[in-house]
Amino acid sequence: MTDTLEDKVRRWIRPEVLALKSYHVPEARGLIKLDAMENPYSWPDALKSAWFERLRAIDINRYPDAGARALKARLREALAVPADAALMLGNGSDELIQIIVLALARPGAVVLAPVPTFVMYQQIALAAGPRFVGVPLRADFGLDRPAMLAAIANHQPAVVFLAYPNNPTGNLFDAADVEAVLEAAPGLVVLDEAYHAFAGASFMDRLDRHANLLVMRTLSKQGLAGLRLGILAGAAAWLDELDKVRLPYNVGSLPQASAEFALAHRRVFDEQCRTICEERERLYQALRRLPGITVWPSRTNFLLFRSTGRSAGEIHQALLRDGILIKYLDGAGGVLHGCLRVTIGTPAENASFLSALQKACGAPPAG
Ligand SMILES: *Cc1c(COP(=O)(O)O)cnc(C)c1O
Repeated sequence: MTDTLEDKVRRWIRPEVLALKSYHVPEARGLIKLDAMENPYSWPDALKSAWFERLRAIDINRYPDAGARALKARLREALAVPADAALMLGNGSDELIQIIVLALARPGAVVLAPVPTFVMYQQIALAAGPRFVGVPLRADFGLDRPAMLAAIANHQPAVVFLAYPNNPTGNLFDAADVEAVLEAAPGLVVLDEAYHAFAGASFMDRLDRHANLLVMRTLSKQGLAGLRLGILAGAAAWLDELDKVRLPYNVGSLPQASAEFALAHRRVFDEQCRTICEERERLYQALRRLPGITVWPSRTNFLLFRSTGRSAGEIHQALLRDGILIKYLDGAGGVLHGCLRVTIGTPAENASFLSALQKACGAPPAG
């Protein structure tokens, strides 16, 4: 009876969970938000009205279609899913990662990924029980093939996650290295193609060739981050089992209908993605010319850059004072020392970012 509340919490919450840090989402109100790989464009008014009309027809008193059949049919066509592959939907791809890891979390199971990469692979592994093994990327952010193959042989991972392209480095791994991982991995290999819309490369058409391959997509980075829709494609033999771990109504009626609507109008989003890619190239060239900045080419909707002069922490703070929020990665250490990540915004947002960065680096503002 003398237990304090804190004692009780420490006694009953699992130690693995006590040791975790929550995923930190910074307050962005009033700031130019270039930290989370969102599409900066909202929908044209006419499209919004048509969308609301579509939503009006939903009987919100009813449960959603647990199998999301209409939406899946549209996704198959839009994503060019091979005819004999199955589909599973998640509340964002984050939930799909969670479902995969939960289903594979036998005692002693290992989740493996190159690092640095998307932090949720590790976060979810630790919360669900498996051990996480991170294999450092090469200095050029490519997969270290011998190290990956050695770690796979050594740890026999239940699942290998490969972000293709990788976040936060922005590059596509060499397809031959990915193939080598697919050949060597004893369990599943999940290709996380969250940035597919900006990358122009995919393993979707190789699903038939690899029985242990699952391809994951999301609508988040394309302009529907608020919707929360992740998509997993692969052999029915895998997905039928994973589906038992999925909560039956994980994708609500509003997201289902909204995603269907958006896919029917996907030329709007494709156009936005093209604009974002053009802006990415402009911003990349501008950053390349900036003294004290090293920037890497990107196949995503963000750019990774390193400050070789002022510390990345100081630059992050200086940008915040100018009303611009980007992602500070320096704390991640290793190959990311001195690094920051900026999401591609509208041309006006990118111009604000660039002039604030020039100021923060102490360079004279251009023209
Ligand atoms: C952003 C991101 C995700 C998360 O996508 P959601 O569908 O919004 O959960 C998954 N993987 C990678 C590599 C990402 O960068």
